[in-house]
Amino acid sequence: RAHLDRIAAVDGDVHAFLHVSDHALDVAADIDRRRAAGEQLHELAGVPLAVKDVLVTTDMPSTSGSKVLEGYMSPYDATVVARSRAAGLVPLGKTNMDEFAMGSSTEFSAYGPTRNPWDLDRIPGGSGGGSAAAVAAFEAPLALGSDTGGSIRQPAHVTGTVGVKPTYGGVSRYGAIALASSLDQVGPVTRTVLDAGLLHDVIGGHDANDSTSLSDAWPSFAAAAREGASGQVLKGLKVGVVRELDGSGFQAGVASSFRAALSAMEAQGAEIVEISAPHFEYGVAAYYLILPAEASSNLAKFDSVRFGLRVNPQGAATVENVMAATRDAGFGPEVKRRIILGTYALSAGYYDAYYGSAQKVRTLIQQDFDAAFAQVDVIATPSAPTTAFRLGEKIDDPLQMYLNDITTIPANLAGVPGISIPSGLADEDGLPVGIQFLAPAREDARLYRVGAALE
Ligand code: GLN
Repeated sequence: RAHLDRIAAVDGDVHAFLHVSDHALDVAADIDRRRAAGEQLHELAGVPLAVKDVLVTTDMPSTSGSKVLEGYMSPYDATVVARSRAAGLVPLGKTNMDEFAMGSSTEFSAYGPTRNPWDLDRIPGGSGGGSAAAVAAFEAPLALGSDTGGSIRQPAHVTGTVGVKPTYGGVSRYGAIALASSLDQVGPVTRTVLDAGLLHDVIGGHDANDSTSLSDAWPSFAAAAREGASGQVLKGLKVGVVRELDGSGFQAGVASSFRAALSAMEAQGAEIVEISAPHFEYGVAAYYLILPAEASSNLAKFDSVRFGLRVNPQGAATVENVMAATRDAGFGPEVKRRIILGTYALSAGYYDAYYGSAQKVRTLIQQDFDAAFAQVDVIATPSAPTTAFRLGEKIDDPLQMYLNDITTIPANLAGVPGISIPSGLADEDGLPVGIQFLAPAREDARLYRVGAALE
């Protein structure tokens, strides 16, 4: 009730939600009854959960921020949603996002932007700005997001929240409307590292419905967060700082907050080691070929026949004309830009030059990580180069928007896990800053230990 009241009070301004559940109170009442009857319920039972609209739900529309899917009702729940419901979490609503998760500001939502609760003239990050803003504005205590190139971690950075991109394959993608299948991961957005660990424990683990799901037995991430809270884990921890990510392009207050966090870690016994990752600087270029290529293929299913919108064309209603009219009306400018880019990059004659080269860069970045993790336990970077920028500031300059992802993209290209936790406020504008930690694949627990130690 308190969260619904809060939504009613602030979401007119923030616009974190595209849809608010009309039966969350009934679900919560049922949990109360079960608890009163003596049933042993999960620690998170009864806790409200905001769900990014990229995740399909049977009881609420799932649009992925697009007009193409306006009002679309899924016949099944995403695995992460089904697992959350089974643990007794109460889905509160669906959160706003850049259309099909393409963007860094939530301005590319077909349903209007979300605003940053810290300053309503500023962006809440993207693509999962709705989930991060909902948590930051106390509209929801926990949220789910998806991270293909930073869409959990960068919104966490600009809203003072915690965001985790798990190891690729650690959390099921079944029912996450695909953007780029080799990069997408679902993960938690919360106010504390422990909350993220608790939610990760609920949603993670093998799922036979996702062919890329890892069959590993995972440790408890909540336990890792609790272990880390003592701070002892920092003693002797080797923290790598990437030489190539230290310099121009980083706002002064972001850089100084980052250095202050490193000093705090050093004071608790961590060892800061400069490392080189010479190919990280090509990550953005490689990503913006691989992502559009995969997205152009994934979005081919929005063909006016199988899902959602259908528009009658001018002239003859041939299959091709209906499809073209539907996709023209249903997709926004950023989605069209990427479909065109991806289709071009995959076309005969250009495939090797663009897609093939990008895949080679991807391998080099993976090798940079291997070399780094032979020297250090975790890598630390600022979570993004700047604090929240103003709405409209980068909307007409796609390259500026893409460059914002420089620190988050390498983890997706390599499949390694990453966490962003708040590291304070920037001196010059008083806006939140995040520090990102990256660990080797399958070592997500390390991030929870380190994150909780620093919190
Ligand atoms: N900013 C990235 C992009 O626009 C983030 C995408 C994501 O993680 N979903 O592609």
